Amino acid sequence: MSSTRVTDWQAVEQRLYMRTYGRRPVTLVRGDGVYVWDDQGKEYLDFVAGVAVNALGHCHPALVQAITEQARLLIHTSNLYYTVPQLQLAEVLLQQAGLDRIFYTNSGAEAMETCIKLARKYGKLHRNGAYEIIVMTGAFHGRTLATVTATANPHYSEPFAPLPEGFVRVPFNDLEAARRAVSDKTVGIMLELVQGEGGVWPADEEYVRGLRRLCDEHGLLLILDEVQTGIGRTGTFYAFQQYGIKPDIMGLAKQLGGGLPIGACLATEQASVFTPGDHGSTFTGSPLMCAGALAVVNTILEQDLVGNARRVGAYLFQALERLKQRHRLVAGARGRGLLLALQLTEDRARAVEDLALAKGLLVNAVSASAVRLVPPLIVTEKQCDRAVEILDECLTELEA
Ligand code: PLP
Repeated sequence: MSSTRVTDWQAVEQRLYMRTYGRRPVTLVRGDGVYVWDDQGKEYLDFVAGVAVNALGHCHPALVQAITEQARLLIHTSNLYYTVPQLQLAEVLLQQAGLDRIFYTNSGAEAMETCIKLARKYGKLHRNGAYEIIVMTGAFHGRTLATVTATANPHYSEPFAPLPEGFVRVPFNDLEAARRAVSDKTVGIMLELVQGEGGVWPADEEYVRGLRRLCDEHGLLLILDEVQTGIGRTGTFYAFQQYGIKPDIMGLAKQLGGGLPIGACLATEQASVFTPGDHGSTFTGSPLMCAGALAVVNTILEQDLVGNARRVGAYLFQALERLKQRHRLVAGARGRGLLLALQLTEDRARAVEDLALAKGLLVNAVSASAVRLVPPLIVTEKQCDRAVEILDECLTELEA
């Protein structure tokens, strides 16, 4: 028998990786459905799902088959040429959205960066050079220089000053504040319909409809960041479908690839003002990513995983709410579909996360006092019962 050398990968990371991530002390090596395993063979119920990414869970056969077949056929060509999967995927995404044109990206930040660039060009062409975008407190839009400036957390942006100008921040869910912020420099209003990284805060329906009206009155672009909410996560294919409105421009990523790095910017014909040379990217919309994303999206649609997100999300929401009756540490649940948070009465979210990890449940402390639950869209009520049972145990221990 050959001797096995066990590598301490966590020590290797400490030595080699830039100090960007506060990683949890587990090394994950395998996944299947709603479960992952670490290098010690320990099993975890995964309610992080790659931070709202693994829509079909881990290693879903439809995704594995699609990328395996595509890898044998054609992986990458650049956008100098036409390729088929990106256009097949475009048809589905645009048809679901009722929007007209798409541009693929490699990530959520790039999707939102594309939205911003598109809006600025629109301002140049149609609004006398207006370039300001009204953004919200609590917002998260990514880590490029423009998107991190649009993001509300100064901790993420200040080390990188000087930051690009052109973002005006107003309180989230406050229509009058948005109205007051509109000037002749404004080109658009950008927001998440459920703020994800900001702590899982849904936008009010009246507010969103009011923002749509405000944009229409002033000829502004309504730009939605559906990077975290899109592709079924909140119980409709796109979150905006619950609000009875439509955006002019929208960013997607996360669940779109079910784990593959792909995002997209979708827009109306009128807002699609890029001309050749304005924007581009080497890897985006590659046959491999798009074939995978197409399998993800088709599986979500064929198996009504959007409906599952709605039904099981409501079930999980209620189960989380019930924890309030048993635990003084629990204030309640919030969110939509399977984008949920358990709000605590104290800043103990990280303690809950750490205890849950030890007990075989992955959840994440999205703020000091809120634990986020974003399981794959295939999650069952039984798996939710188990997750809530583990949270119940964690809370009991913390309250002892
Ligand atoms: N927008 C929203 C709403 C997000 O939640 C995120 C990531 O969490 C992003 C943009 C940035 O996406 P990415 O991390 O893929 O760049």
